Amino acid sequence: TKSENSRTKVALPQGINQATFRTAIAELRDRLGEEHVEFVTKLDDGWYMENPNTHDGMHISEESDFVASVVVYPSSTKEVQTVVQWANSYRIPISPISIGRNYGYGGAAPRVRGAVVLDLGRRMNRILDINPDDCTCLVEPGVTYFALYEEIQARGFQHLWVDVPDIGGGSVLGNALDRGVGYTPYGDHWMMHCGMEIVLPTGEVIRTGMGALPGNNSWQLFPYGFGPTADGLFSQSNMGVVTKMGFGLMPNPGDHESYVRFSRVLALHNGSRIIQLYAFQREEDLSQLPDQIDIIRPLRIAMILENVAQLRHISMQVGLEGKPRSFYYNGKGRIPDSFIHEAAQKLAHGDCTWLYYGMAYGPKEIRQYKLDIIHKEFMKIPGARRIDPSTLPADNYFWVRDRIASGVPDIEELRWVNWHPNGGHVAFSPVSPVRGNDATALWDIAQKRCEEYNLDLFPTFVVGLREMHLIVEIVFNRDDPVMRDNARACLRGMVDDAAKRGYGEYRTHLAFMDQIAGTYNWNDGALLKFNEKIKDCLDPNGIMAPGKSGIWPARYRGRGWEM
Ligand code: ADP
Repeated sequence: TKSENSRTKVALPQGINQATFRTAIAELRDRLGEEHVEFVTKLDDGWYMENPNTHDGMHISEESDFVASVVVYPSSTKEVQTVVQWANSYRIPISPISIGRNYGYGGAAPRVRGAVVLDLGRRMNRILDINPDDCTCLVEPGVTYFALYEEIQARGFQHLWVDVPDIGGGSVLGNALDRGVGYTPYGDHWMMHCGMEIVLPTGEVIRTGMGALPGNNSWQLFPYGFGPTADGLFSQSNMGVVTKMGFGLMPNPGDHESYVRFSRVLALHNGSRIIQLYAFQREEDLSQLPDQIDIIRPLRIAMILENVAQLRHISMQVGLEGKPRSFYYNGKGRIPDSFIHEAAQKLAHGDCTWLYYGMAYGPKEIRQYKLDIIHKEFMKIPGARRIDPSTLPADNYFWVRDRIASGVPDIEELRWVNWHPNGGHVAFSPVSPVRGNDATALWDIAQKRCEEYNLDLFPTFVVGLREMHLIVEIVFNRDDPVMRDNARACLRGMVDDAAKRGYGEYRTHLAFMDQIAGTYNWNDGALLKFNEKIKDCLDPNGIMAPGKSGIWPARYRGRGWEM
């Protein structure tokens, strides 16, 4: 029959035979209901709004490399406990996701082929609390930025903002757990969380911070509670399933009816010497990038620049037009910079090399004070030019940034994935001080490796507070194995080059987790050994997302799983 046929294609977890697996799944179906336990019998990459929960929709290797056997949809913390206990009794690996977008980092896929994906997003999607006086919320895993934003509007709490990342379809909880960022002053999502509920790998439930005190009324107000703070163990980790999480919400900094008018965005670029820049662009880039970064550092640390500062390379802007690479260039190898600059001349703001996006918040007198300082500092860069937002058309990407930096979710950012047909993307995301010489060093590493592997790159410097991430997005054709191999080799090369100079990544795709965990190896790998010790203690059967962040349970360690 059809279902028999498709069942034989299910990717079984290693070490479990077909018969035992079927018995185990039948038992799980008994406990959760047949319709909430689905076999993975076909893979459809979907698209952003319909992201797959079966595998990595942006697969950088074979589509079936990182794939689930079954997807389970629990409806409550209790049912999560049921699944966890079930997984222990059969030693079947499970892998929790919230919404499972996580594009560029592996999507919904488990690190171990054939693991059972625990999709919390579908049924555990309640907003448990929004407190308009304390400006906090408590959410389940399936609450997206769009859902939280809409609920806040619907309840008439326009004095509350949600900090949203570049694309708003992801889970508020999932993004914070993976330490994603947004673009208001509350952009560090992990920093802004307060209180968690977690199902441990052996099935017990804990609440962190004030949540451990029965009857408390400050779970979302004070993150630490008493004693060691356990929260960090559950971020970018495989130590538990997070079922509830609290967050602080930023108060709308202006009059709530006119906050969009109140937001002034300063866009600045160094392109007034367009012709010269075009002719000597390499030298120009290298001489101006450090100045820009060194000017940003003190302004950002002093919070004159109030949100995560972004310095975007012009290739990003060209990519955002959403046209394929072939529209601009058909040659092999990396697209020459001259073609990017030629395309950029047609953009509303004209050509340049770097574009700075930022936002000032609050009433006019407060904004103006900061904007004047920013303007004076930025204009010290030769050729710097302030772009007047009123000259930009309503469909310009600038207004997407304007929305995002004022807490309105959006999904335009991924337009550059259309650069190649069947576009997928993967990011190199090293952390460094906010210094010109570090920017230049990372820029060199990215340029050289992309040149070596014939890949175009879309770079942005993102300044958190005292550090910056260079995010280099590499777009590849998912159906082109050579390009995929190149993208993987390029990423591996960049990670190694960066580590040799003291830079490490803040987050990565499943395929690079072992490599990157291996670069954080001070004192003979003491940190990884510590993580493994905790892992073995909390998860003795090694069922919870084995291999996530390079942490393997004892049952898997040193048996050929690392890549
Ligand atoms: P997005 O919000 O971008 O859709 P995901 O749901 O894919 O993000 O979550 C990103 C990653 O965070 C997952 O791959 C998983 O490792 C981890 N994660 C997400 N939700 C949970 C959870 N509730 N408990 C534990 N880990 C989680």
